[in-house]
Amino acid sequence: MSPIGAETDVLIVGAGPTGLMLANQLGRRGLRTLIIERHDGPAQQSRAMAVHARTLEIYQKLGIADRAVALGRPGYGANMWANGRRRARIPFGEMGKGISRFPYVLMLGQDDNERILGDRLRDWRLDVRWSTELVALEPQPDRVLATIKDPDGTTRTIAAAYVAGCDGSHSAVRHLTGVPFPGAAYEHAFFVADTVATGPMVADELNVFMWGRGFHLYFPMRGADRWRVIGLLPPAFTNRDDLTFEELEPTLRAIGGPGLRFQGCHWFSTYRIHHRCVERFRDGRCFLLGDAAHVHSPMGGQGMNTGLQDAYNLAWKLALVIAGRAEPSLLDSYDAERRPFAEALLKSTDRAFGYVVSESRIAGFLRTRVAPRVLATVMRFDAVRRRAFRTISQTGIAYPDSPLSRTLDGVGRKAPRAGDRFPWLQLALTAGGPCVDLFEQLDDTRFTLLTIGQPSPSVESLGLGTRLQIESVPVDARNTGTLAKAGIRGPAWYLIRPDGHVAIAGARFDAAALQAWLAATTIRLEDDAPLRPRTRAPPGAAAPSAPATPRGRGRPRSAPARARRRLRWRRAARRRGRRSASGRPRGCARRW
Ligand SMILES: Cc1cc2nc3c(=O)[nH]c(=O)nc-3n(C[C@H](O)[C@H](O)[C@H](O)COP(=O)(O)OP(=O)(O)OC[C@H]3O[C@@H](n4cnc5c(N)ncnc54)[C@H](O)[C@@H]3O)c2cc1C
Repeated sequence: MSPIGAETDVLIVGAGPTGLMLANQLGRRGLRTLIIERHDGPAQQSRAMAVHARTLEIYQKLGIADRAVALGRPGYGANMWANGRRRARIPFGEMGKGISRFPYVLMLGQDDNERILGDRLRDWRLDVRWSTELVALEPQPDRVLATIKDPDGTTRTIAAAYVAGCDGSHSAVRHLTGVPFPGAAYEHAFFVADTVATGPMVADELNVFMWGRGFHLYFPMRGADRWRVIGLLPPAFTNRDDLTFEELEPTLRAIGGPGLRFQGCHWFSTYRIHHRCVERFRDGRCFLLGDAAHVHSPMGGQGMNTGLQDAYNLAWKLALVIAGRAEPSLLDSYDAERRPFAEALLKSTDRAFGYVVSESRIAGFLRTRVAPRVLATVMRFDAVRRRAFRTISQTGIAYPDSPLSRTLDGVGRKAPRAGDRFPWLQLALTAGGPCVDLFEQLDDTRFTLLTIGQPSPSVESLGLGTRLQIESVPVDARNTGTLAKAGIRGPAWYLIRPDGHVAIAGARFDAAALQAWLAATTIRLEDDAPLRPRTRAPPGAAAPSAPATPRGRGRPRSAPARARRRLRWRRAARRRGRRSASGRPRGCARRW
C-alpha cells in the first residue's frame, strides 16, 4: 500500500444520484471533492422513474432543470385497471399549480438523471473516478483516512476531512463505521422490466393493473411504446435467480388483457425490497446519505428523490464548516432534520405497501373495486389534490423541530414557519416593479434575509457580509394578494437558508434575534469573521484532487488584507448580480 498521498475536503463514496448531487453541490461551492465509484462507468439501468417537483426545483438552482424537463415526460394522470376494465382515472394534470414551478411528476429514468448530473460535474472541474472502491476507513480526530482500491488493483490511503457514504443499500461506509441499519426485508419479491409494448395502456400516463393478489405498474418512458413495468412476482417465481421476462410475460398478459403485446424487453431484473433506516446519519466525520441511510418500498417513487435531498441538505452545512464559517456541531442538524423525515417516509410507504400487497379477500376487493372510485372522487377536491401533491412532491417537507428552526412570536398561524420550505411566490421586489419568481432570486449558496412590508436593514448595519442576500417585499396590491394566499397578512421577516428552508420566521424585524440565531448555530456570515482553521493537511499530503478550491481560507489575515478581500467579495457579488439579471443561473459562482 502506498503512503498517504492526497488530501481532500470531502471523499464521496458512490456515484449514484445521491453522490453526484452532493459532488455538484460541493463542487460549485469550490470544495476539494473526490468522488469514487466501484463500477467502471455510469449505470445503464433506468431504476427510479419519478422525478418530483422539489427535486426539479433543486435542479433549477443547479442549472439542469431545463435539460431534465426536455428529456422527461410529465405524468398527467393515473389509470386504474381491474379485471380488464378501466375503473377510474385520477387526473394529476398540473396538480401542484401555484405550489411549484414544476406542478407535475416528471417521468425520467434514473440513468438520465445520473447522466445530467454527471455532465454538470465537469463545470466544477470534477469527474468521477470509476473502478475505484472504498475498502477501509480509519477515523482520526481531525480527518478520516480512507483506503481505496484503484482500477489497477493497488490500494492507497487518502486523507479526507469528511467522508460521505452515498454508496447505496450495501454501503461500505455504513459497514466500516458500524452504524446499525435496523429493519427487515419484505417477504415479497418484485420484478422490473423496461419493455416495448402496446395494449390498453393510456399513453403518457401511469397505468395501474390491479387484481385480487397484487398489482402491475406501467410507467411511460421516453421513446415510442416504451413502458417500465414493475410488479409483484408470482409465488412460483419468487426463488428463481434465472427467471426471464419471456417466462413472466403470460402472467402480465393475463392481467393486462389479450390486447397487451410485448415487442421487446431491454432490461429485466428481480429484486427484494427492504425497509430499513440507519440509527444515525452522522458518525463523527462520516455521513450516510440516500440508500446508504434508508431503503423502503418504491410506493410513491420517493427513493431517488429523498437521496438527492439528503445531499442538498448536507452540502451547504459541510461547505460552511469546511470554510471555517461554522463549528462542526452544525453538521448534527443533518441527522436531526433528515432522519425523522426518512423514518416517517418508511412508515408511510410501509402502510401503503402493506395495503397493495395484502392477499386478503377484503383487501383485494377494496383495491380493485373501492379504492379506484374513492381516489378518483376525492382527488377532484382542490384541497386533497394540493395536500397529496405536497406530500408526494416533497415540497411539503419541513424541519420544525430542527435545532436550526426558530419561529418567533407574532407569526401568523397560516404563515410559513421555521423549518418550512419557503413557498414559491411571484412577488414585486421593488415598488411598482415587475413580479418576479422569488425562487429565481434566491441564491442557494447564500442565506437570504427577506423582509415583508417593512424596511430592510443594510448588510453594513447588521455587520454581516456578502454571504447574506437581502431582499425586500414592498407593500403593493399585487404582493398583498399573493402573500395573503401564503398566509402572510402583515409585516414579516424570514431568514432563508441556502437550501430554501426557513431558519427564522418573525413579524417585525429583530436584529438581536438574527444575531442570537447566528451565535447559537455558530454560523459566521461576516466577510472578515475570524475563521476556524481548515482541517490540517496530513503529513506528506500531495496536491488536492480537485483544483477549484479557494486557498488559505483559514489563514489569519492582516486588517488591510481583510479589507482587500471584503472589496473583492463585494465586486464579485455585484458581478454575480449582473450575470443573474442577464439570465445566467444564479448560484454558479464559487462561494464560501
Ligand atoms: C430494480 C430497482 C428499481 C427501482 N425503482 C425505483 C423507482 O421506481 N422509484 C424510486 O424512487 N426508486 C427506485 N429504486 C430505488 C432507487 O434506485 C434508489 O433509491 C437510488 O438508486 C438511490 O440512489 P443512491 O445514489 O443513494 O444509491 P445507488 O444508486 O445505489 O448508488 C450507490 C453507488 O455506490 C457505489 N458503491 C457501493 N459501494 C462502493 C464502494 N465501496 N466504493 C465505491 N463505490 C461504491 C455503487 O456501485 C453505486 O453506484 C429502484 C431500485 C432498484 C434496485
